[in-house]
This record gives sequence, C-alpha cells and structure tokens, in this order.
Amino acid sequence: MDLGLSGKRALVCAGSKGLGRGCAEALAAAGAEIVLNARGAEALEQTAAELAAAHGVPVTPVAADITTVEGRTKVLEVAAAVDILVNNAGGPPAGVWTEWHHADFLAAIEANMLAPIALMQALVPGMQDRGWGRVVNITSAAVKAPIAQLGLSNTARTGLTGFVAGMARQVAGSGVTVNNLLPGIHATDRMVTLDGPVAKAEGISLEAAAAKRAATIPAGRYGSPADFGAICAFLCSAQAGYIVGQNILVDGGAANQTL
Ligand code: NAP
Repeated sequence: MDLGLSGKRALVCAGSKGLGRGCAEALAAAGAEIVLNARGAEALEQTAAELAAAHGVPVTPVAADITTVEGRTKVLEVAAAVDILVNNAGGPPAGVWTEWHHADFLAAIEANMLAPIALMQALVPGMQDRGWGRVVNITSAAVKAPIAQLGLSNTARTGLTGFVAGMARQVAGSGVTVNNLLPGIHATDRMVTLDGPVAKAEGISLEAAAAKRAATIPAGRYGSPADFGAICAFLCSAQAGYIVGQNILVDGGAANQTL
C-alpha cells in the first residue's frame, strides 16, 4: 500500500535503537525523509547510515538528549518544519512506590510528559499552518493496564495521555492528527533491563525469563520493532487522517480487556 509519505519529513526522537528505530525504518521505507535523534552519536550515525542506504531517503542524525531544553533546541534547529513527529524517549526506572521521591517524579514527568508536549507545541502550529501533519507519541501499555513497579512511567504517561485527549481534538480540523501508540512487550534493550532482574531473582537465564514472560502473551512472543514501526507508519499515512486522539495498544493481546 502506498502510504502517501513520499517526500514528507519526519522527526523521530530516541530512534537509534528499539521502537524508535522501528518507526524510523517504517517511515523511511514509505519514502519519508528522516531527522533521527538519540543521545549516543555512534549508534545514531550508524543507524542513520543504514536507513539511508536501505531506503534511499535522506536521514539526518542529531545527537541530543531530547528530554532537555538544550537538546530539543539542537534538534529543532534541523527539524523546524517537519510534517511528522514521533515522540519517544527512554522510560523511567522500575521501583517501589514507597521509595520514589519528589525528584524521581519530576524527572519522569519531564522526560515522558513535558518533553513530548514541548515538541508538539514547537512543531504542531507549523503543521496546522501547512494544513497537514501527523504526531505519534510512543507511550506504554501501562497507560491502559498499569504495571505497578513502573509507577513513575504510569504517572507521567497518563499525564501525557490526558493532554493529548484534549489537544488532538483542537488541531484535528487543520489536518493534523495526534495519537498515542502503546507498546506492550517488545524485544528491545529496554526489555533486557526489565527481564534481567527477573532472571536474577528467580535464578534462571535471561532467555528463560523472556520465554516465561512470552508465554503470558496471547500472541506467544515478544513484539518486534518492525511490528511496532509498521503501525506507526500507518498512523502517519495519508489514509489515517480520520484517526484522532486514540490510544492504540500494540501488545499481542496481553492486556486482558474487552475495550
Ligand atoms: P530502547 O531499546 O532502550 O531504545 C531507546 C532509544 O531511545 C535508543 O535509541 C536511545 O539511544 C534513545 N534514547 C533514550 N533516552 C533518550 C533521550 N533522553 N534523548 C534521546 N534519545 C534517547 O527502548 P525501547 O524499548 O525502544 O522503548 C522506547 C520507549 O517505549 C521507552 O520509553 C520505553 O519505556 C517504552 N516502552 C517500551 C516497551 C518495550 O517492550 N520495549 C514497552 C512499553 C513501553 P541513546 O541511549 O543513545 O540516547
């Protein structure tokens, strides 16, 4: 299917690896030019070169911490007038609710709520002026089905979800759609950091911990960045213009709910 993205420009944040990379790859495969961000320059430049070579589109790497004002300023110097924004950043650490301090909550809210809101504030007005735009925020399945040990993530991402619910409907009339994509368990570095402690606690290998977790997912496996990226690219497509303010689970059926 032609997604109508040839010649569009996309900013993909936190995209040198994992789900962000999956989104960048699918957008590049659909013909979009990419501004690709992550902190570590080496992996970022390698990913940018691989995507450009594989898909024949310009991919411009910008190494910066997207959760800081300085980092966003650096990225926006290159990505001032993009058509597509994929918001993403690393997730907060797991822990115990009694042990999180004020500063822990502020850090999570800064990274996973205020940073994507700031980028939407910077880029969506231009999309509105041009009459077309797409925003996809990578959040988490935890927004719909909370994961207690990821309470910092539950908190910050639910705040972003509330913001998007109102704002998406304010901008939809100017051709801009804003939606959230909610990953369940996907095979990325992030999952290794979550499976590692389980393996240690249970005295089993990392592979055994992952297999045990995969067995709890109706699809019987972890998702891949490619699974996730394909849905991101569809949400950014010309065809998806009537999907507004939605929270779309990509979790292999893991959240046991009717709606
Ligand atoms: P990942 O494999 O660890 O990849 C994270 C990517 O983001 C890397 O490219 C990393 O590069 C970049 N990054 C991290 N912090 C950044 C920052 N402050 N500024 C710019 N780039 C940054 O993670 P993932 O699994 O793709 O997860 C992506 C998001 O989805 C996270 O918020 C995660 O919590 C959430 N999520 C993931 C899953 C899952 O199953 N994987 C499930 C639910 C939610 P650098 O380190 O070089 O910056």
